[in-house]
Amino acid sequence: MSDWKKFLPEQRIAYFSMEIGLTSEIPTYSGGLGVLAGDTIKSAADLKIPLVAVTLLSRKGYFSQSIDDQGRQQESPNQWHPENLLECLPIKTLITIEERDVKIQAWLYRVTSPSRGQVPVLFLDTDIPGNAAEDRRITDHLYGGDQAYRFKQEIVLGIGGARILNQLGFNIRKYHMNEGHASLLTLELLTHGRRPLEETWDERNSWNTQEVTNKCVFTTHTPVRAGHDQFPYDLVERILDHEIPLDLLKDLGGQEHLNMTLLAMNLSQYVNGVAKKHGEVSQAMFPGFHIHAITNGIHPFTWTSPYFVNLYNRYLPSWATEPELLVRVDSIPDDEIWDTHCGAKAYLFQYIAETCGVELDPDILTIGFARRVATYKRGDLIFSDMDRLLSLGEGKLQMVFGGKAHPHDEPGKELIHRMMQNIRQYGDRIRMVYLPNYNMDVASRLIPGVDLWLNTPMRPLEASGTSGMKAAINGVPNFSVLDGWWIEGHIEGVTGWSIGPAPNGNSISQNHMDEDVEDLYAKLENTIIPLYYQDRSGWIRIMKNAIGKNAYYFNTHVMMRRYVTEAYCH
Ligand SMILES: *Cc1c(COP(=O)(O)O)cnc(C)c1O
Repeated sequence: MSDWKKFLPEQRIAYFSMEIGLTSEIPTYSGGLGVLAGDTIKSAADLKIPLVAVTLLSRKGYFSQSIDDQGRQQESPNQWHPENLLECLPIKTLITIEERDVKIQAWLYRVTSPSRGQVPVLFLDTDIPGNAAEDRRITDHLYGGDQAYRFKQEIVLGIGGARILNQLGFNIRKYHMNEGHASLLTLELLTHGRRPLEETWDERNSWNTQEVTNKCVFTTHTPVRAGHDQFPYDLVERILDHEIPLDLLKDLGGQEHLNMTLLAMNLSQYVNGVAKKHGEVSQAMFPGFHIHAITNGIHPFTWTSPYFVNLYNRYLPSWATEPELLVRVDSIPDDEIWDTHCGAKAYLFQYIAETCGVELDPDILTIGFARRVATYKRGDLIFSDMDRLLSLGEGKLQMVFGGKAHPHDEPGKELIHRMMQNIRQYGDRIRMVYLPNYNMDVASRLIPGVDLWLNTPMRPLEASGTSGMKAAINGVPNFSVLDGWWIEGHIEGVTGWSIGPAPNGNSISQNHMDEDVEDLYAKLENTIIPLYYQDRSGWIRIMKNAIGKNAYYFNTHVMMRRYVTEAYCH
């Protein structure tokens, strides 16, 4: 079936992302950034927004996680088979890396919506006979390797991606860079759009930066300076083949290092953060730019458990393409909301029994916490005072955890180890499990099956967070530090609960450890546990508000309509 040319005539938005998470079978994502990209593409297909997505093939995936007998993370490659799921396109492109020619091919995956909208996704691949052995490995490991390896990947993504779109015959209206990894595409556009030199001009005038800027949109996701990719210019000059004068490149990408965020910002007409607060934090970090905010979302159908899909289909038909209809959740009887939730909970508990051999009790309030393991997310905050936790929670709480630490992140891996020690030591008093290999498949069982979704990041480091939105659409209330999207979604005791003080200021150094821990325990003990066991209809009210006041709005349909009218329209 090679009717891929049907995608060519219509003008499209090219959406570039280093990672894209569409399904667990295509393990080319590590966490929230990639899942957001996948959800963005799915909503674009539902809404028939003409998009073409570009990413890397990552043949060896991110990695598979297991937990060994000592409670430590073990990693293995997550090799997958593109030929079973994707179609290899017949046209290749060529780039230069370290003065070697490197051929790139693209594999096509079609995201198809029930609305019959379709979005093509191109997975770039350098594993082609004729390429040097080391170059064939460039598109193997997502976030693997050293700085030079990463830079080569970003050349393939940015420059290779822009070139192959052109070569295939795509007609691109805007280039949307999801995070700075694809920023090098601006250099390709700059070179491509170079004006012929006129006699009266100096060389600089032939570089039409305005034309590139008009075509680019940039979304930043990282609220810390150290999180932005930067490369030393000696490495850049050694690896990247470009015609742009070094002084111009430094004006655009930074004098000291090539900063991918700065490069993208300098060449984008529209720049945004991923929640209101994150927009403000980014604005303070980059005062010379105007930074907008479009809050992230989740794809409604992907993240709603089959149990709630059934329920919504009966009471709120076409909710999946028009999630605003969830605002009418009060038309669903309380007992049906509760029974539906119990179905999702039983399904998760069965999965836990099969994978971990632990039997959880369906009548006990169950807290969930799972996401990429990074120390700023403080997955072990709830273990800060074990005596206090046991005294308030014994017989009343159980917990399910999950998440992978990056293979090079020793503090993150140590955090998993500490959590495992607590789980083993106290598991007979509060039942707890750590589900291995957290991925989209595990997330889609775990999140809907718990009663309460916990999030305890250090502020303001959670740019948006999206797993809490996945909880909300399944009627699972959030109990979270006021950061990212939760600042916008939280109404105390109505949509869920906050942990710790209200946000003020944008400084990274605010650390409310003691206040957060105290509030976490006090609210569990005095508010959340009593409500769950003594006022079931009060609890169901909060579940309904999570759906009707959070999920109806915090989804990628709403988000994409905003990108179309605010970012892509200029
Ligand atoms: C949604 C999702 C995330 C993002 O979780 P946050 O709590 O927003 O960090 C990470 N990993 C997977 C597999 C997900 O599905």
